[in-house]
Amino acid sequence: MGATGMVGQRFVQMLEKHPGFEVTALAASDRSQGKSYAEACTWRLVGDMPAFAKAMIVQPPLPPLDCDVVVSSLPSDVARASEEAFARAGYPVISNASSFRMDEDVPLLIPEINADHLDVLTRQKQERGFTKGYIVTNPNCSTIIMALALAPLHRKFGIEAVIATTMQAVSGAGYPGVPSLDVVDNVLPYINGEEPKMESETRKILGRLARNSFENAPFLVSAQCHRVNVADGHMVAVRVKLAKRVTIEQVREALASFRSVPQELKLHTAPKHPVLVRGEDDRPQPRLDRDAGGGMSVTVGRLFPDSVFDYRFVVLGHNTVRGAAGAAILNAELLQARGLLTSKPARGNAASAKARVR
Ligand code: NAP
Repeated sequence: MGATGMVGQRFVQMLEKHPGFEVTALAASDRSQGKSYAEACTWRLVGDMPAFAKAMIVQPPLPPLDCDVVVSSLPSDVARASEEAFARAGYPVISNASSFRMDEDVPLLIPEINADHLDVLTRQKQERGFTKGYIVTNPNCSTIIMALALAPLHRKFGIEAVIATTMQAVSGAGYPGVPSLDVVDNVLPYINGEEPKMESETRKILGRLARNSFENAPFLVSAQCHRVNVADGHMVAVRVKLAKRVTIEQVREALASFRSVPQELKLHTAPKHPVLVRGEDDRPQPRLDRDAGGGMSVTVGRLFPDSVFDYRFVVLGHNTVRGAAGAAILNAELLQARGLLTSKPARGNAASAKARVR
């Protein structure tokens, strides 16, 4: 759902050759419905629109649809009703939108960090009366990128406070997004809703699930967010106060050696190194580092002791890959590996063991 947008196009691109998922339906707004994907969608990514998608007819984002699992990049104001309708109709829904992220019974999932938060799905199904369906969300794009760098530090040393300043790419605003006359030769010190999302989502992601309730991580985050004149790749300058005194080598080692569930399970979209650490004075840079690990690794650089907090660094990641479509696909792969995506009997393709995605 949202298949014609910036994130939707990434989904179509990343799913083209996916070994576990096959795209069987595409949905978008009434502007696009009834048209072929090729007619409805102006392809904005490098390379051609995947051939499989061109003739598919864009459908309304309403059940029923011919698929086993729904991935959504709808705008948040329409996502809530649409995603809930699919979950109620029995479909697992994996969402990029912010509508359900902070709900008490919804996992805000980054598989490297909080795969155990999936346990809350039992509560979600009970409380919402879902039978087979459920909703899993991925965080805001800047939040995912920062949280991947904070997770190894919180796990090993404990975090006491975080101050974050973002420099976010224009593709983060979708298409057509920010008017060029606003952003060329300029920096915009305001992105609607972004600062509260980074401050609250980070604490849920790094928090604990205890007896089916989320306990926020016990530190505060202060975030200031800026839109900068970059096409893809969000950068976050981070200062962090730790609960233990540790050396810079210990910090570097914690970041560089971070591996987790997706790497252990060898999930298709999982990067070998979730966090890459670079030592050059002038890295990371969006143009040079956003595609690291197929866009799924984040790159940390400028790691130094800080004169106010303990350490500071810059972390960069691809906002529509690790921050959106790739994040949701990795979530889907984890759900599949955990047996939480059950493929319906194959329709029209007896050989297909893939989950069918919309
Ligand atoms: P976008 O480029 O504006 O695309 C929006 C998509 O939603 C299009 O497919 C559009 O279809 C569809 N849509 C719009 N209004 C609709 C309606 N009333 N009913 C049904 N479909 C509708 O936006 P985007 O950047 O892909 O972002 C999509 C979602 O992902 C948002 O919730 C955003 O917050 C989230 N997200 C984005 C990023 C990022 O880096 N861009 C990162 C993380 C999360 P039409 O083409 O037919 O209008």
